[in-house]
Amino acid sequence: MPEDAGPAQQKCIVCFQPRLAVTAGDAMGLIMSSDLEQGTALVLFSGGQDSATCLAWALSRFARVETLGFHYGQRHVIELDCRDALLAGMKRISGEWASRLADNHTLEIPTLGTISETALTRDVAIEMDEGGLPNTFVPGRNLVFLTFAAALAYRRGIRHIVGGMCETDYSGYPDCRDETIKALQTALNLGMDRQFELHTPLMWLDKAATWALADELGGAALVDLIRDQSHTCYLGERGERYDWGYGCGKCPACQLRAKGWQQYAAARARQS
Ligand code: ZN
Repeated sequence: MPEDAGPAQQKCIVCFQPRLAVTAGDAMGLIMSSDLEQGTALVLFSGGQDSATCLAWALSRFARVETLGFHYGQRHVIELDCRDALLAGMKRISGEWASRLADNHTLEIPTLGTISETALTRDVAIEMDEGGLPNTFVPGRNLVFLTFAAALAYRRGIRHIVGGMCETDYSGYPDCRDETIKALQTALNLGMDRQFELHTPLMWLDKAATWALADELGGAALVDLIRDQSHTCYLGERGERYDWGYGCGKCPACQLRAKGWQQYAAARARQS
């Protein structure tokens, strides 16, 4: 028997994902506070801690927010499955956020996996190479992601693109550098003849500050949601629950997340 063929099942013409039902907020043209940006933002949303925090940041700032995830053969594809729980949780945290959340897109780019012999896309141990980069580095991944995001944004008339790139705790990935993102913004605007703005709210934050930002944006409810429902572990492990969330506890991503959580929790304890 066919599933509900109502308006909620319409597909996006660009990514062919089911479109969300039009909410009452959309129908009314949204009720906006004076400091809210009027445009739409497209958030790179993988289901990890950083992108979940970026989504909350965008929901606090833009009148309408769409999300985009990529499937490229990553070992930790489980993080894409975390997106639904995170989206549902954010809607519960705030009625305003619920009214601003719009389409959630997924783009398939398996080509990135086929040309990347890395520990994120192959079943090999995670270690450092001679240049000091971890072998989780997928060359140019953020350049590819942001270029696809801009192409999607172009088709959908969206100006603002939000990503969780961070130069502070970035494992040395050169495509996370602020300079790289600024250069790419210039290239995208020249190449597509648009005025995209690439926003990277986490660029100068460490992981402890990222937890603190979540606290500031959505209080304990958002911190708990991100801790329990976001996924960071490179190995895709969700079997064991630590005080910082689920993961293997050993890979570089888990260790970075754990260290940030401990620093954030210690600072919070000192304040109370
Ligand atoms: Zn891990």
